[in-house]
Amino acid sequence: SKEDVHAFLKKNAFVLFTVAAVVVGIVLGFALRPYKMTYREVKYFSFPGELLMRMLQMLVLPLLVSSLITGMAALDSKASGKMGMRAVIYYMTTTFIAQKIEQVSPADAFLDLIRNMFPPNLVQACTQQFKTKYGKRVVHLTVTVNDSLFNNSTNDTQEVMEISGEEVIPVPGQVNGVNALGLVVFSMCFGLIIGNMKEQGQLLRDFFDALNEAIMRLVAIIMWYAPIGILFLIAGKIVEMDDLTQMGGQLGMYTITVIIGLMIHGVLILPTLYFVITRQNPFTFIAGILQALVTALGTSSSSATLPVTFKCLEENNKIDKRITRFVLPVGATINMDGTALYEALAAIFIAQVNNMEMNFGQIITISITATAASIGAAGIPQAGLVTMVIVLTSVGLPTDDITLIIAVDWFLDRLRTTTNVLGDSIGAGIVEFLSRHELRSKDVEMGNSVLEE
Ligand code: ASP
Repeated sequence: SKEDVHAFLKKNAFVLFTVAAVVVGIVLGFALRPYKMTYREVKYFSFPGELLMRMLQMLVLPLLVSSLITGMAALDSKASGKMGMRAVIYYMTTTFIAQKIEQVSPADAFLDLIRNMFPPNLVQACTQQFKTKYGKRVVHLTVTVNDSLFNNSTNDTQEVMEISGEEVIPVPGQVNGVNALGLVVFSMCFGLIIGNMKEQGQLLRDFFDALNEAIMRLVAIIMWYAPIGILFLIAGKIVEMDDLTQMGGQLGMYTITVIIGLMIHGVLILPTLYFVITRQNPFTFIAGILQALVTALGTSSSSATLPVTFKCLEENNKIDKRITRFVLPVGATINMDGTALYEALAAIFIAQVNNMEMNFGQIITISITATAASIGAAGIPQAGLVTMVIVLTSVGLPTDDITLIIAVDWFLDRLRTTTNVLGDSIGAGIVEFLSRHELRSKDVEMGNSVLEE
């Protein structure tokens, strides 16, 4: 009836607006391409999109810290230990992990990753660009400046720049100057401790709880702006992308292969896993997080999407806050299924371009290092392109050949980011399901009203 339609529209207005924004963005982008805008004009045109990125990124630091601290504090150490194990096992099985890497340079990258777990200065961890120890030695990329990751150029005519190592390469676990991994580790420990502090810790628990709530209200406001931002992010990117008709057949095949791989993972593997474990309809679950998926597609950053992922999972899918607060920040920082898949395929593609036969051992090495590289990649646009270096060096492929795939990377980045966010969300759903007994007994203990199942 008319009321039903009305109620449906009201409930799904955000999602409808956002999906419409993607469509309008694509159409507008293609319509404006013939006008051949200059680099500066494109920057002006995409400005509303840039603002959305900045707003979302602004929230990441306080959201990450407050949600992890309150999430950990709300659980006792035994329950959180169990849930932590479940999350880690989920991440491991969906991303495929390994411990031993022989080559020197991936080892350096690993050490870097672990170093960043322990920031010597917390204030610095929130602000400073960390330097990588291996970047200087192996990284030599030619990157198009018009990428938001390297937006430190205002030159109109200059299209390409050389970057070599130290200053501009994002460090594993780092989000836009924030050492996310270090903050994750610190916040989890801190939350656990104040959770065990009885009355003495109450002030801190209340403080971070309130902070978290305040940030989520900010998220709700920013979401009204999201469709506009996404429209211009997508249109701007289409306006400035390279001519696809000039794309070589090989690159086209590579693009299609990555798309198929991501599709299989996102539409088949993850939903099946969700269904097998929870016996619930995975596609209803996915419908609830549509807004987050579209935001991931628009921003190509899983950390920028994090606030929206929180909102969708908590409000639409009714995932317990104690789960989201702790699974999502960690997931957005280290769990990147799409990136792992992409990095492995990209390495195999580069091997083929170089006419190198990969033997079985090398394929295994690629899958292992691709997993590591995806854990190391920050949840920011095209971070995966940079951590590719680890994968390529591990099997002796030329790192310069990363330039071969740059032309299509902006596009594949969006798709793999969407897969990453999907993986994190399904992870939260599964961990909640597996932890339902702990959550319930904690509720009983705290005297919370227990929902009927
Ligand atoms: N952009 C991706 C993300 O934020 C990371 C990547 O470049 O693969 O999840």
